[in-house]
Amino acid sequence: MKKINYVLVILFMFISMVPAFSQNHSRNQFQVLVYTSPDRWHNITEPTAILEFQKLANRHAFGLTVTQVVSNFVDETLLKYDVLVFLQSTTRDLSAEQLESFKRFIRNGGGFVGIHGASACRREGEWFRKLVGRTFTDHPEEQTAVMHVVDKNHPSTMHLADRWIWTDEWYSYTEALTENQKVLITVDESTYDPDRTWGDENRHTAMGAFHPIAWYQEFDGGRSFYTSLGHMPELFKDPLFLDHIYGGIYWAATGLGLYE
Ligand SMILES: [Zn+2]
Repeated sequence: MKKINYVLVILFMFISMVPAFSQNHSRNQFQVLVYTSPDRWHNITEPTAILEFQKLANRHAFGLTVTQVVSNFVDETLLKYDVLVFLQSTTRDLSAEQLESFKRFIRNGGGFVGIHGASACRREGEWFRKLVGRTFTDHPEEQTAVMHVVDKNHPSTMHLADRWIWTDEWYSYTEALTENQKVLITVDESTYDPDRTWGDENRHTAMGAFHPIAWYQEFDGGRSFYTSLGHMPELFKDPLFLDHIYGGIYWAATGLGLYE
């Protein structure tokens, strides 16, 4: 297992050194740019997630580029993509100009998919926090819990059962920062201890009866999907989770598949 991790880290270093690590496919139906940034909480997760994204791109015939390089955030590069996936990353490292290019991408009808750490953006500007929809506040220790799939009319949830048992780092959030977002999944706080936080009695992460985990919205001319799930590497090998992510990408890219 250690050997595999070593190989993944080398691959990740390679990815971080080239401007864009892409995989061409003759049947690309849309183009996806996955943006990650070094993050000490998720450096072990990102290499596994990226390998699984490559498989997802092959299986679903979409073009995939993975990058850590913020110089890709210019109009002429972003024009090539339909969806930007922020994998454990935020706009923290973008210059003001690069952020403006990203805003134009969304305003031109671009798609955004935020995964897990993308909501750790309390220091980022209001526009990005609204694009994500809610901002991460805190989390307890990793635990198993039961989620309720409250809306199955979206491609990211239509394959899931009403209840979904899962082990992850359960993020808590601020109130919704936009009005029209639709929550897809909630977590049932009675099935884990939201305040179990390393013996630190000052940390409380419970949100109560309504604890959102995944949602989507149209925002500022584009489409935005966010899922809280995805702390540990193993999660990115789970078929249900991969279908959840792909459903989000598919909707963000096309706007199709809603059954309201
Ligand atoms: Zn995490």
